[in-house]
Amino acid sequence: MGSGTVVAERAVTFPGSVREALDVLAACPDATVVAGGTEVMALVNAGAVVPSRLVVIDRIEELRGVWFADQEIVLGSATTCMDLMHSDVRGVLPALAQAARAIGAPGIRSRATLGGNLLSGKRSGGPTAPAPTRDLLTVLVALNAVAVCRSADGWRQIPVLELYARDGGVDLPPGELLTALRVPMSGGPQGFMKVGTRAGAARPLVTFALAADLPTRTVTCAIGGFSPAAVRVDHAGQWLAEHVDWENCAIPDPTTYPRFARLIAEGLVVPSSAGPAGWTTATVPQEYRELAAEVCARRALVRALPPAGWLEQVAEYQQRAEFLRHRAKVERAERGLRAEPPVPGQGAGFEGMRGE
Ligand SMILES: Cc1cc2nc3c(=O)[nH]c(=O)nc-3n(C[C@H](O)[C@H](O)[C@H](O)COP(=O)(O)OP(=O)(O)OC[C@H]3O[C@@H](n4cnc5c(N)ncnc54)[C@H](O)[C@@H]3O)c2cc1C
Repeated sequence: MGSGTVVAERAVTFPGSVREALDVLAACPDATVVAGGTEVMALVNAGAVVPSRLVVIDRIEELRGVWFADQEIVLGSATTCMDLMHSDVRGVLPALAQAARAIGAPGIRSRATLGGNLLSGKRSGGPTAPAPTRDLLTVLVALNAVAVCRSADGWRQIPVLELYARDGGVDLPPGELLTALRVPMSGGPQGFMKVGTRAGAARPLVTFALAADLPTRTVTCAIGGFSPAAVRVDHAGQWLAEHVDWENCAIPDPTTYPRFARLIAEGLVVPSSAGPAGWTTATVPQEYRELAAEVCARRALVRALPPAGWLEQVAEYQQRAEFLRHRAKVERAERGLRAEPPVPGQGAGFEGMRGE
């Protein structure tokens, strides 16, 4: 074995359990945690970060997965965006699945983790790093998520926004690992929207999430993407809750959509210069960002709470389409025309053509 390999073995650790990872971090507090590596490995490869040791946590089973309890959903911090899109999460936390789907390209989504997304960007007080994106944070703030952190000394849980210092940098002491996110089960409709710097997968200009809670008939919303941490927009949520038909989970008055969107855009207070977390908004005109916020809020609301009568109308269209399909079939039979289309594999008459 060459000496180069020995150096690599010493510098990189692949713990098999959380306990093992915490022991390594306790022994080597300036080690860098690598989850999916989509952010941190780009910095290491570019020489922007020179870690004394890498602790790779993506093989730790305890950190990957989704657990459903009566009152809450627990998301392992090393769960990937792809997992968030495809698992049962989509049924109960649709806004989180929608946000995960909006991150990067499929290759990035299959590596990037929930924890890595929340903890991307610079550490509080540390050297400047590329601006973090943290799309998933906006949803977790709207969902009142709680972060569970562990170190060799014990564990603590804090509201997700307390993971950040005032400058937007990550406020996690050395040796601590984010292990899970606890999300209260609300079961109500949710929506997420993002406007990026270009069409397709892109860094966000604005992200917006809202979640309705059926038992308490409340709505919580958060807006992010324009600063390192997302912010709650409680006044807009309270206003919206009074304009929802809670029996049918719909919006009776269509003017609610633009009025709600305006409330969100008007509350947008964007830092005008680059902050200590490396965030700069200088190139984006405020009017454009406000417009983007308005569009995000309106569309997320339509996704979550459609106009009253809209679902019935969709069902009506579906019934009508079914009727027309059936009538066309009957008419072809009456005129003696064959039922199957001239496409291989579409019916008994074409079986023989399969694979030719
Ligand atoms: C091409 C490209 C497109 C992207 N597009 C988007 C986008 O559209 N939206 C978006 O939000 N982001 C985007 N990103 C940014 C980024 O890759 C993601 O935010 C990703 O979720 C980071 O997750 P990761 O697991 O790869 O983190 P890593 O790179 O492994 O880690 C990121 C940081 O978090 C720390 N960390 C990770 N997990 C833990 C843990 N459990 N405990 C303690 N510390 C931890 C690491 O030490 C590191 O500082 C993009 C990146 C690329 C390269």
